[in-house]
Amino acid sequence: MHRFLVKDIAADALEVIITGEEAVHLNRVLRLGLGELIEVCDGRGRAFRAQITYSDPRISRVRLLEPILEDSEPQLELVLAQALVKGERMDFILQKGTELGVHTFIPTICQRSVVKLGKEREARRRKRWQRIVNEAAKQCRRTVVPRVEPVREIGEVLQKYNGEGTPIIFPWEGEEGLGLDTALGDIFSGGGKIGRVLLLVGPEGGFEFKEVKLADEYGAWLVSLGPRILRTETAALAAISITLYEAGDLGAVRRG
Ligand code: SAH
Repeated sequence: MHRFLVKDIAADALEVIITGEEAVHLNRVLRLGLGELIEVCDGRGRAFRAQITYSDPRISRVRLLEPILEDSEPQLELVLAQALVKGERMDFILQKGTELGVHTFIPTICQRSVVKLGKEREARRRKRWQRIVNEAAKQCRRTVVPRVEPVREIGEVLQKYNGEGTPIIFPWEGEEGLGLDTALGDIFSGGGKIGRVLLLVGPEGGFEFKEVKLADEYGAWLVSLGPRILRTETAALAAISITLYEAGDLGAVRRG
C-alpha cells in the first residue's frame, strides 16, 4: 500500500489534504484516483489507512478510515552524529540508517571532513537529505520520520549531548581495550527505560587525535568495532545495528 506523508494531522481529524511533492507523486507518478486506498503518516508516530475522496493534479483529499497501530519504532532513541562525508556516502548512510531505526541524524563537521558547505549549499543539501530520509521511512513503514538536523561542529555536539546526560558512543579505531558490546552492556544495565544514545562516527580520514581527546573529556565511550578498519559508512551501519540489537530491537517483532 502506498504511504504518504502529511504533517500535523489533528487529533480528531476525519480528513486530510495532501499537497506539494506528495500530491504530485500520488497523482502524476502513481496515478491514484478517487476511491483508492492509501496510507497516510504524520512522521511523528501516527499512521492511518485512508481513502481518496477528491483529487486534482496538485491536491488530494483523503478520508481517514482507521489508525494503523503496528509499532515499528525502536524503544531506543538513537541519534547518529555522522561526520560529513562525500555525497553518495552520506546519502547511503541516511537511507540505510533510517531503515535500521535511527531517530535523528546530525551531519557533523570534523577536522578531516573533506566536504565543506557554505550556508546556501548546506540548506539545499539538508533538504535533499531530509527527502532521502522521508522516502526511506515511507518505504520501510516507519511511523516516525527521522529528522536531519542542521550541520554542527563536533565540539557543539559533544557539549550538547554530554550536557543532557546522553551516553555518547565514539567508535575509534585506536581503541583496543573497550568493545562496543561491553560499553552498551554497561549503558543498558541500569534497567528501566533505555532513553537515548548518541553515536558519533568519524570521516573517511578518521578523527584527529584532538577530537578523540575532546570526546574523552566529554565522557564519551571510546569504543572499538573490532580489529579491521571499516569505512565510515560501514562503521556507521555496523554500530547502528549492534546498538539497536543490544537495545532489544532488530530481533523478534513486538506486537500489541
Ligand atoms: N583513520 C582511518 C580510517 C577511519 S574509518 C584511516 O584512514 O586509516 C572512519 C570512521 O569509522 C572512524 O573515524 C571511526 O569512527 C570508525 N571506525 C572504523 N573502523 C573502526 C574500528 N575498527 N573501531 C572503531 N571505529 C572504527
